[in-house]
Amino acid sequence: MIAMESLDGSSPAQGALEYVPVPAFEDNYIWLVSDGRDAVVVDPGDAAPVEAYLAKRGWRLTAILLTHHHQDHVGGVKALLDRRSAEGGVPVYGPASERIEHLTQRLSGGDPVNIAHPALAFSVIDVPGHTAGHIAYFQAADPHGTPHLFCGDTLFASGCGRLFEGTPQQMLASLDALAALPDTTQVHCAHEYTLSNIRFARAVEPDNDALSRWDAAAQALRVSGKPTLPTTLAHEKAVNPFLRADVPAIHTRLEEQFGAPVADRLEAFRMMRGWKDKFR
Ligand code: ZN
Ligand code: FE
Repeated sequence: MIAMESLDGSSPAQGALEYVPVPAFEDNYIWLVSDGRDAVVVDPGDAAPVEAYLAKRGWRLTAILLTHHHQDHVGGVKALLDRRSAEGGVPVYGPASERIEHLTQRLSGGDPVNIAHPALAFSVIDVPGHTAGHIAYFQAADPHGTPHLFCGDTLFASGCGRLFEGTPQQMLASLDALAALPDTTQVHCAHEYTLSNIRFARAVEPDNDALSRWDAAAQALRVSGKPTLPTTLAHEKAVNPFLRADVPAIHTRLEEQFGAPVADRLEAFRMMRGWKDKFR
């Protein structure tokens, strides 16, 4: 490959994108995607840490993307818009079927999202379960060809979201839709729940070697103050029990735990989700 001179000579890292998890509240991550000049924000539950990070890097906010209506994902939208009202604000993308203030672009599954600065193309995936109208944003290829997913509170590292407004069937179908994306997809989740998810995952699958290795690696990351994210779909398929509802060893373990037969993967998923809700 011959290195191409950048045509507009704008920056040495032309074409590169940075994906940054900005910590908020106890355990939220607000993701920023930037080309080094402009940035979009995903699920800004709080404006202050986003403004601080934008200022530190000298980035200009050009769009807000929302996955679902919960306050820890939308609570900072008004303050971000107010601060930019003189320039007419920025577009606010979000789920068409949820009641969210300040939305300017209402999205549902299959819709494209094209942002000019930074240059970003997403497709929208419907992922009901955590909330009824929850959506995810899939970027098929960054400038290096890597796919990226922003999935809010649907899929977490080694776990999945609680079912506040949906059925196990809906959530399993949503996770199946995400698992069908390329294995190399970088998964940008909205919470740092990894260590507690791993504790549960190990209770479900004590003999999963990939999971015990991941436990050690994730603990080391947290000890040094680093996020455990992004994860990848390949990794999640190896260690996340909610993407492994068809694994026979998991069915055996659930039969032990509940003293009842596991009919199929939906039943296994429903049992795991219920167990996790009470797991301490
Ligand atoms: Zn939520
Ligand atoms: Fe959340």
